[in-house]
Amino acid sequence: MVSKRLEPFRVSIFSEITAAAHAAGAVDLGQGYPSWEGPSFAKDEAIRALVEESNQYPPYIGLPVLRQAIADRWLADTGMAIDPDRSVTVTSGCTEALSATFIGTFDPGDEVVLFEPTYDAYPVGCALSGAVPRYVTLHSPDWSIDRDELRAAFSSRTAAVLVNTPHNPTGKVFSAEEMTLIAQLAVEFDAIVVTDEVYERMAYARPHIRMATLTGMWDRTLTLSSIGKSFSLTGWKTGWAIGPERLIANVRSAKQFLTFTTPNPMQFGAAAALRAPDSYYADLMAMYVAKRDKLVSGLAALGFGVRPPDGAYYILADHTRFGLGDDVSFVKHIIAEVGVAAIPPSAFYHLSDEGSRLVRFAFCKSDTVLDEALERLAKLA
Ligand code: PMP
Ligand code: GLN
Repeated sequence: MVSKRLEPFRVSIFSEITAAAHAAGAVDLGQGYPSWEGPSFAKDEAIRALVEESNQYPPYIGLPVLRQAIADRWLADTGMAIDPDRSVTVTSGCTEALSATFIGTFDPGDEVVLFEPTYDAYPVGCALSGAVPRYVTLHSPDWSIDRDELRAAFSSRTAAVLVNTPHNPTGKVFSAEEMTLIAQLAVEFDAIVVTDEVYERMAYARPHIRMATLTGMWDRTLTLSSIGKSFSLTGWKTGWAIGPERLIANVRSAKQFLTFTTPNPMQFGAAAALRAPDSYYADLMAMYVAKRDKLVSGLAALGFGVRPPDGAYYILADHTRFGLGDDVSFVKHIIAEVGVAAIPPSAFYHLSDEGSRLVRFAFCKSDTVLDEALERLAKLA
């Protein structure tokens, strides 16, 4: 029997759908992993490190070469110089940055404001730490925030608000006004802000705003990210937390007992990745805009209700026109009868039932895969 704490979560929807997709031989637009491999400038350095560098425990806070690369990239992106020894810590993916943040920062009963649809690791982080989630719905079709609902989620018990921008699964890129509103509430209620920025290089409609760069927010913000999405290396599980020393110390306290360290060769490879020129990011963005447009227009032509997402690499489409029931039945049907896998998003909702009429498709897939998926989905019509 799994512990009571984790009992509500069972197998993640991503693992469940990936397994079902493989078993059925379906084209997989489910879990968000690219259908190609990451760049050789990162992989070659990881190979060199595996052969030439130490394969023993690196420091638990991360290799100096990687922490320096993270600090240099932060300076290039924000104009803020940060101390790689005090303000940066390396983690095993953003997933560990999240769990170490929750476990190292919150006490049972602390409240954490989460937006829904909610990435599955956040409620689990609450369960691991004893923190209590307070959900605020991003309302379809434009994923807007109701100011009164947001304010009502804050109280004297609020320890943190978690902002994932660009957002999985809606693609929402939080606007300057929304980020400012969240910052004001965090200050008013003396809460910290935890940001999950794994899709930071995929903001198409408007610039990605980093909470830590807003006036007065550095001291109360933990910025979490990883190289998984930006470098199509989701299997490397190499990420980081950036923030003021007092908050980074919390993440480190937990990290040292979760994994202790993150594998050496991947840290060398990640440092090389982060030294990529800006043109690398421009090319990545152009590639994803083209894939987004292909899948959006293909799904719209088939009768899905769809809007181009502003960021990240997912499309949340309305499937109700096909009359196949809720999101779970719809996904079961397309895996078994159409040969395409997608994610049923009701798993990401806690208050609203908006998820039941939606389905999440990932477009981090080769054009051949996207075309094949669209061809198969044509059977629905
Ligand atoms: N946060 C979000 C919003 C994600 O979609 C993902 C999934 N990849 C993660 C965190 C996990 O990142 P990592 O693979 O670096 O652990
Ligand atoms: N972030 C990936 C997604 O949303 C899933 C990663 C995972 O399986 N934990 O598809």
